[in-house]
Amino acid sequence: MTPGPTQVPEESLSLLARQVSHHRTPEFQALFERTTQGLKDVFQTREGDVLLLAGSGTAAMEAAVVNAVPRGEKALCLVSGKFSERWARLCETFGITAVEYAVPWGDPFDPATVRAILSKDREIRAVFTTLCETSTGMGHDIAGISKAIDSIGVTGGTADGFTGEPSRPLLVVDGISAVGAVECRMDAWKIDLLCVGAQKALMGVAGLAMIGVSPTAWKRMEQVPRQAFYFDLFKYRKSAADRTTPFTPPKPLIDALAVNIDALRKEGMEAVWRRTARLAAAARAGFDAMGLPLVPKMPSDAMSAVRLPDAIDTKMFLSIMENRFGVKFAGGQGELSGKIFRMAHFGMIDEFDIIGTLGAIELALHAVGHPVRPGSGAAAAIARLSE
Ligand SMILES: *Cc1c(COP(=O)(O)O)cnc(C)c1O
Repeated sequence: MTPGPTQVPEESLSLLARQVSHHRTPEFQALFERTTQGLKDVFQTREGDVLLLAGSGTAAMEAAVVNAVPRGEKALCLVSGKFSERWARLCETFGITAVEYAVPWGDPFDPATVRAILSKDREIRAVFTTLCETSTGMGHDIAGISKAIDSIGVTGGTADGFTGEPSRPLLVVDGISAVGAVECRMDAWKIDLLCVGAQKALMGVAGLAMIGVSPTAWKRMEQVPRQAFYFDLFKYRKSAADRTTPFTPPKPLIDALAVNIDALRKEGMEAVWRRTARLAAAARAGFDAMGLPLVPKMPSDAMSAVRLPDAIDTKMFLSIMENRFGVKFAGGQGELSGKIFRMAHFGMIDEFDIIGTLGAIELALHAVGHPVRPGSGAAAAIARLSE
């Protein structure tokens, strides 16, 4: 039940047991085409490209940073937890000045503040942010942040030092834990670079990352000196025209992922988002009934990060969940270490998992000396699911 890695569907798993076949073949080209076209649906883009990278989700984040912003230039990093901090650390690694707008963990960003920072500092080349901050379960308002970027306008005529034209900063989004689970519209929300990893809502095996690139991003990236070899996105664009990747692709992982993407497309992305939202509402109703507060002020439907009472031995709770009930949760990271547990609502997780997990939580709480009214959490979830 962790927010990544998630369980992998049987049909997808069985493909991983097949003999390896070569990747410079028409068969791979067909797989490449099917996968990238499918991902365009998942990313909600018609205009942009989706490229496949070998690596975990962070590979896509690193590719975004090295391709989008020249060394020595500035980027705005929106920091609200463990994962969004990574944007700032990546920028620093590549000699990019990270202007940080940090909020307390679990808080939203205020689009007006983003606007104020950008209108004061016209040298900021890109804004790096996160769809679902997986360390806190916070669902950030990407559409609102995008509008804030738009609102500083290009009409003011401020010259952009490196394109020679007025332009808005690029919007770069880490959608690793929530694209494929919750609403995220690359084109409509003017996302320039969208990073995703296979092992979260896409139900894949870790080791495959994806990055969506808008036409604007391509234009702007042409002005950036190449700072990477393996992660030079122009190499991937060139190969994509031949329906392949520049380096040996993790073909078995792509084979397996394609099955999951086909299933998401068949269901329809809006239906998938509604399904996740329904499970999220049921889980929240359950936590509320048990008196367990959520960490974030605006929870993402992708997952719940839940606070446990101070008196509870969190390690013991997690170990009972795992060893007695076979339910694996993620614990807290950084400042939330030992205080919370994190649970996904996406991928293969269904109504049965939500109800069963809430029941198991009740028994585990009883075992660690914090009894709740038996059935209260599960009953609230069932009531919500019956609506
Ligand atoms: C999981 C996750 C990452 C890190 O991905 P890796 O696959 O471990 O590299 C980054 N950002 C968010 C929001 C995540 O949930």
